[in-house]
Amino acid sequence: MSAASTGKRPRHRPQRTCVACRQTEDQRGLVRLVRGPEGRVTVDERGRAPGRGAYLHPSKRCWERALAGVGGKGGGALAHALRATIDEDDRAALTAYAARFADEGPQADDGAAQTATRAASEPREPRAASRQARGTESETR
Ligand SMILES: [Zn+2]
Repeated sequence: MSAASTGKRPRHRPQRTCVACRQTEDQRGLVRLVRGPEGRVTVDERGRAPGRGAYLHPSKRCWERALAGVGGKGGGALAHALRATIDEDDRAALTAYAARFADEGPQADDGAAQTATRAASEPREPRAASRQARGTESETR
């Protein structure tokens, strides 16, 4: 059987499918994982490692979904796609790798923390503060 007649598509950018959510994506927008010669599953950051590869979106959601069920019978979507068995060590490493991804949307944690720190260290109208300390005890009660 020849696979040459798949129709003409004016696309040069290779498309890959995220094994977790099954959405097609530009290859560069996905993270490649590869099953190494010893059956270990690792992140292929350069996207060129030899071996059977699978792709995932750089999002915790997809990684969690891909790893869900690993260790049980059948394994997760990632194990299935790679036809590999992902052991606990590999799973831990992949989970740790996925920690760098945002759940969804932009990360707002850093900005909020900085704002809070600045507000706390900023002197707040020193005149009003000293006046209050001097003679308005009744008001503070
Ligand atoms: Zn995905």
